[in-house]
Amino acid sequence: MENTWSKVDDYIQRKTQSRDEDLQHVLDHNREQGLPAIDVSPNEAKFLYTLAKMKDAKRILEIGTLGGFSTIWLAKAVQPEGKVITLEINPHHAEVAKANLQNTSLDHLVEIKLGSAHASLEELIVSKEEPFDFVFIDADKESCVPYFQAVLKLSKRGTVIVTDNVIRNGELINKESKDTGVAGVRALFDHLATLDHVSSTSLQTVGSKGYDGFSISIVE
Ligand code: SAM
Repeated sequence: MENTWSKVDDYIQRKTQSRDEDLQHVLDHNREQGLPAIDVSPNEAKFLYTLAKMKDAKRILEIGTLGGFSTIWLAKAVQPEGKVITLEINPHHAEVAKANLQNTSLDHLVEIKLGSAHASLEELIVSKEEPFDFVFIDADKESCVPYFQAVLKLSKRGTVIVTDNVIRNGELINKESKDTGVAGVRALFDHLATLDHVSSTSLQTVGSKGYDGFSISIVE
């Protein structure tokens, strides 16, 4: 079945992404540089781009840059003069992302903040950073709740918050799981259930990245 999911993903990408949108060279570069293959898939990246465009987002925050594949798509969405701030703890990942961005015409739209996302988020809050329109949370899943809480302080009515990898091959509903990532996403769902000013849903996905999904929230 996974083979079919990948073939369908390839088909969708061929039919819906132009040559200009083909960022396979970015993914190839990330692998050459030894980065793990945990970037979003091309169709997921375009899904994020589409959501950001639907929101007419001008200010985007991303937690978890890796080699900047999703970052480039988010930067495309804020053109010509928006801003993407992306947080990354690993210096090598940040360097690779910087090089990938420098190969695009979008570099000036992106700020990569190197360091623990916890510290960077705190800095953004303390410095009273203008609220973001769209946030993509895609780092260590153990920290989903603290990231979500911090992101709410950087949000306004209408801010859209997407968290990746919340289904985890269906393990989301396994309360016996010893996986700390599963515990992290379960804690996120528990937290979302307590928030009456945030409306959330989640979509299960299959594709070249297997069986997973996004949670999508809007601040009301
Ligand atoms: N969004 C990227 C994409 O789709 O191209 C993929 C991000 S990857 C799934 C997660 C990234 O989060 C890794 O590069 C990892 O180094 C980073 N990360 C993990 N823990 C972090 C932390 N505490 N603070 C900031 N970044 C962190």
